[in-house]
Amino acid sequence: MKKFCENCPRHCKCNRTRNMGFCGEQQTMRIAKIIKHFKWEEPCLCTDGGTLAIFFSGCNLKCDYCQNIDISRGGVGELYSPEKLAELIKKEQETHSSIDLITPTHFLDQLEKTFSLFDKKVPVIWNTSGYESVENIEKISKFVDIFLTDLKYSNNDLALKFSKCSDYLTVSLPAIKKMCELKKDVFEGEKLKQGVVIRHLVLPNFTKNSIEVLDLVKEHFPNRMISVMSQFTPNGHGLLNRKLNPIEYKAVLLHLEKLGLKNGFIQDFESADCDFVPKFI
Ligand code: SF4
Repeated sequence: MKKFCENCPRHCKCNRTRNMGFCGEQQTMRIAKIIKHFKWEEPCLCTDGGTLAIFFSGCNLKCDYCQNIDISRGGVGELYSPEKLAELIKKEQETHSSIDLITPTHFLDQLEKTFSLFDKKVPVIWNTSGYESVENIEKISKFVDIFLTDLKYSNNDLALKFSKCSDYLTVSLPAIKKMCELKKDVFEGEKLKQGVVIRHLVLPNFTKNSIEVLDLVKEHFPNRMISVMSQFTPNGHGLLNRKLNPIEYKAVLLHLEKLGLKNGFIQDFESADCDFVPKFI
């Protein structure tokens, strides 16, 4: 690692060998949980044996409504060197359809090293908030096949309010453009081997934001896959203290239809009433 962390656009100027940055993590990778044969991502990402889901601790955003708050801010998990993680992935990869690196951005330099230690045999997914720098997307694309990226907000004010990030849209839009430029979609049957999926979680009371995000997708990425998610669950700490209601989700889907964005996924709203992630359809 360079003396000051450059893993993300926060540019904390932090020496992570001694301190933690905004992301709440020091240099060594910390993994909160690993789920084998995970099937809850979009269907093209977890065919066959499901994906090997690796949840990293910490995050470079501070979303008020974070859906994984114990992991993103809890400082929980086991420390992994690049060698230790490479061993684990090497052992597991043949029985999984892909490797899903979930919220990995703040460990970019460690992951670059990890993937230099062995030959990967299945697609690697960079499952990100979208808050990435264009330069880093170039680096990441050398060992990653699929960008599974959020596009959370249509404006920086909302990003500041909910994610403590005053330049989210300014930074993430060019980063996603770079992802799309570098990774054309390549399928083998139903399985995505390379490409980009843009995700958007609809927030209760903020359908206007979702509609504007879809407008941005139509303007900038009209042919790429978009996944519109209904699974919002209040985390018990944040300002948003109720689930999405069906009318809100329907309004967003009607706009999706109006824009003619047909490439992608929506969720089965009925199952959002239970504690499970609603399935993608
Ligand atoms: S990865 Fe963490 S320490 Fe590095 S710039 Fe981002 S928030 Fe700061």
